[in-house]
Amino acid sequence: MKEAVVKIRTRYAPSPTGKMHVGNLRSALYEFLIAKHEGGSFMLRIEDTDQERFVEGATEIIYRTLEKTGLKHDEGPDKDGGYGPYVQSERMKTGIYMKYARELIDKGEAYYCFCDKERLASLKTEVVEGKEITIYDKHCLSLSQEEIEANLAAGKPFVIRQNNPSEGTTTFHDELYGDITVENAELDDMILIKSDGYPTYNFANVVDDHTMNITHVVRGNEYLSSSPKYVRLYDAFGWKIPVYVHLPLITDENHKKLSKRSGHSSFEDLMEQGFVAEAVINYIALLGWSPEDNREMFTLEELIREFDYHRISKSPAVFDIVKLRWMNGEYIKAMDFKVFYRMAEPFLKKALTKSFDLRKIAAMVKTRIEVLPDIMEMVSFFEELPEYDTDMYTHKKMKTDKASSLEVLWEVLPLLEKQADYSNDGLYQMLVHYVEEKGCKNGYVMWPIRTAVSGRQMTPAGATEIMEILGRDETLRRIRKGIEMLENA
Ligand code: GLU
Repeated sequence: MKEAVVKIRTRYAPSPTGKMHVGNLRSALYEFLIAKHEGGSFMLRIEDTDQERFVEGATEIIYRTLEKTGLKHDEGPDKDGGYGPYVQSERMKTGIYMKYARELIDKGEAYYCFCDKERLASLKTEVVEGKEITIYDKHCLSLSQEEIEANLAAGKPFVIRQNNPSEGTTTFHDELYGDITVENAELDDMILIKSDGYPTYNFANVVDDHTMNITHVVRGNEYLSSSPKYVRLYDAFGWKIPVYVHLPLITDENHKKLSKRSGHSSFEDLMEQGFVAEAVINYIALLGWSPEDNREMFTLEELIREFDYHRISKSPAVFDIVKLRWMNGEYIKAMDFKVFYRMAEPFLKKALTKSFDLRKIAAMVKTRIEVLPDIMEMVSFFEELPEYDTDMYTHKKMKTDKASSLEVLWEVLPLLEKQADYSNDGLYQMLVHYVEEKGCKNGYVMWPIRTAVSGRQMTPAGATEIMEILGRDETLRRIRKGIEMLENA
């Protein structure tokens, strides 16, 4: 018999705790791609049960980022798909977590714990994977039913803990890491319901993923070590365990975990630094995943087609900002001019206050920048002739030196004074004519002119294009200045 086809359902489950970290965005992207690749559904769930870590405005950041990156969710707090509420604090109000916690208590898989801070602080700590943790000693597991009821009736604060066995092992499967087996004695009786009544992430993620029919869970591998405890919860309820995909760590250039210190660890940082959302998404897709042919440039549509989570690598992915800059430059080159201009205009306006043809300047820089703010440095010479050294007039390949440059500038000055047509074409024809008469190479003439009008070794355009932008008066002023500098050199 044919097995019923289960529609893939993935979820992105961010906690609204601040900026959108690159690692979180990668989880969202992979969840989105896994669902869309199979025609499934991608859901947004806000995990706000940790009230202490909640940051005002962080939920808006999540929506804005999904919108900007094109990771459109099919269901979420703003789009009901029949599995709501989609915000954990609202789910809590429905009593769902408490109901399931009680079910576990009835099954002997969880228990009330009334231990106070002092008692917990006196428990011995152990170092597990470099972290100090306190393994709860199951003190409250031995309370009698009467004691529990008396405590509850007296309003004594409590938490609900998972009851893990002290013997045996638990095995679970991760799509990338394979089967992982742990000793049950190592599993802490983690808290499921906190004293404020909120569920912990550890409990809520299981209850929600099950009740919201999630088929694939994709998340950072910092959750790998807790997964046996989640698996025990699924088993205790008799629920089907979702497919787990734990993603490799993202590191900085120094192979340390990518953190705020790098200055580019969040989507907002990258946007502020002038990156293009499409390029960021393309780059992030490659942080752990690669297609068979090692191709690098992908639109979101192409990623949906090509993405196969079985090809995610377990080794840490290095976030290489140099590579991202390159990729961003490629996106800018390929971008529609109108779209580019809209993005470039604020930077052009910041750098250039005089009345220049900004569209022409934008066209010059479009193929030469990596990120948008590069524009400002690149075009600032239009606004103000920078201080420069006359050594710049000497160029081996162009066969120019200070004396030849002075001669050329002297000769072209009257031609430029006479010239009425200051368009790029008009200027070019006039100068090429002069080059022919002189019987030299183009560069022999264009190099000193470009140097004089820009004061730069590198410019986003040739001499005549620059002069067209500067206009007659400013061009003549700069040529005269060059002559004066060369005479005094
Ligand atoms: N709320 C968790 C986080 O933001 C989600 C982890 C998960 O995807 O299960 O890290």
